[in-house]
Amino acid sequence: MPSVFIKTYGCQMNERDSETVAAQLVAKGYTLAPSEKTADVILLNTCSVRDFAEKKAIGKMQNLAADVRKNRPDVVLGFMGCMAQSRGRELIDKLPDVDLVLGTQKFHRAAECLDEIISGAREKIVDVAEEENSEAAIREHLLNGSAKTSVSAFVSIMQGCNQRCTFCIVPFTRGGERSRTIPDIVAECRDLVSRGVKEITLLGQIVTSYGKKEKRDAWSMKRETGGASRITHDASPNSPFVQLLDAVHEIDGLDRIRFTSPHPKGYGDDLIDAYARLPKLVESAHLPVQSGSDRVLKLMHRGYTREKFLGIVKKLRRAKPGIGITTDIIVGFPGETETDFEETLSLAREVEFDNAYIFKYSQRRDTPAAEMPDQVPQKIREERNQRLLELVNGIAARKYDAFIGRQVQILVEGPSKKNAARNTGRTRCNRIVLFDGSARHQGQLMDVKITRTGSFTLYGDPAILNL
Ligand code: SAM
Repeated sequence: MPSVFIKTYGCQMNERDSETVAAQLVAKGYTLAPSEKTADVILLNTCSVRDFAEKKAIGKMQNLAADVRKNRPDVVLGFMGCMAQSRGRELIDKLPDVDLVLGTQKFHRAAECLDEIISGAREKIVDVAEEENSEAAIREHLLNGSAKTSVSAFVSIMQGCNQRCTFCIVPFTRGGERSRTIPDIVAECRDLVSRGVKEITLLGQIVTSYGKKEKRDAWSMKRETGGASRITHDASPNSPFVQLLDAVHEIDGLDRIRFTSPHPKGYGDDLIDAYARLPKLVESAHLPVQSGSDRVLKLMHRGYTREKFLGIVKKLRRAKPGIGITTDIIVGFPGETETDFEETLSLAREVEFDNAYIFKYSQRRDTPAAEMPDQVPQKIREERNQRLLELVNGIAARKYDAFIGRQVQILVEGPSKKNAARNTGRTRCNRIVLFDGSARHQGQLMDVKITRTGSFTLYGDPAILNL
């Protein structure tokens, strides 16, 4: 059987999609090639969120065509994922060496498409159509792929996004929101736990919108269904996402639950309360704020104000003292003035984020922001990016230093990638901790005393605490 190499660009959802495709191909008898140099099939799983990511994937494919394809003409080359979805056939027109273009609702069709291409039944395949229930097709895991992944796993709970932020291409690449059912998700989580997984991260474009569309659909068809959605089964006052958290929390043997990425709008009192009452839901929240200026937030169509955002942070910190709060921020959104940007700086100072992913605004086709007036010059985007980065890193470093001398609980993931004599683990608030330890600690919850810090890393000593 052929060997396959998948290179992934972009977010955790893309990583998860690649893992599923790899696991499905392994189940069909494919082997996983250690690099593109020896693979019979090379798939690039692409990202579209920023122009830079698209350019990188196209550049990579050009190199593969010029290099690998020239020496091994039978190698199958394919694009899958977000850019494949948004560009479709255009990719083959631009890069005639490409054999396969597979959209975001077609990952589970990878094996059959490759069979057809390899057997010669079809020369080229472009499949970017919508497919009902494709959200439930991302479920296979490669737990034996690496020691780390057998302790912690990602579970995709939904696909698509209905938020329509004016900067974002995701609704065009992933389609509208579609959620899996709670029993289906819980069954996948139970299976993972039975195979040694201790920590599950629930994954979606906007996880806090989980099941909302299905709930609305059920209400609008109330006469036929009695208001029952296929996602949730009771008249609980809690959102479908909190109902899902409750269901996953009941799984014996599971130690920790995380989720990403949510939307600030989704932090209702039921979710804040879930942090306080569910011990497995760890003290960590990713709250993508995007801007500290109300004017820009409105232009972005985010649906909350700075004050509302600060209120959520306050409530979360009250419910879970010590909670780690991270964010996403876009600098240089069209029309962002120096005053708007300073409001973002002041918000970052006020919240003291534990970390922030800062993005220079990138014009995306078909999005409303791409057509907005007052596009910010690239030089200013870069300068604001630098100023915000310095501020965020300075605050984060101080917060890391405050851990020295403290005792924290970590879940041990396994040997560190850089130094196999060291183990790596994560605190409940999602900080990486390195410590000297052996393989027998993998998968254990351990108490560690923090002795020093590095860049976004804590160094711990378990010796005294775990005799
Ligand atoms: N759940 C998230 C939210 O609430 O918006 C969405 C995740 S999004 C795919 C990941 C991040 O990419 C966004 O939070 C945003 O900061 C960034 N992003 C999206 N579109 C962008 C664009 N056109 N330019 C720069 N950054 C962008």
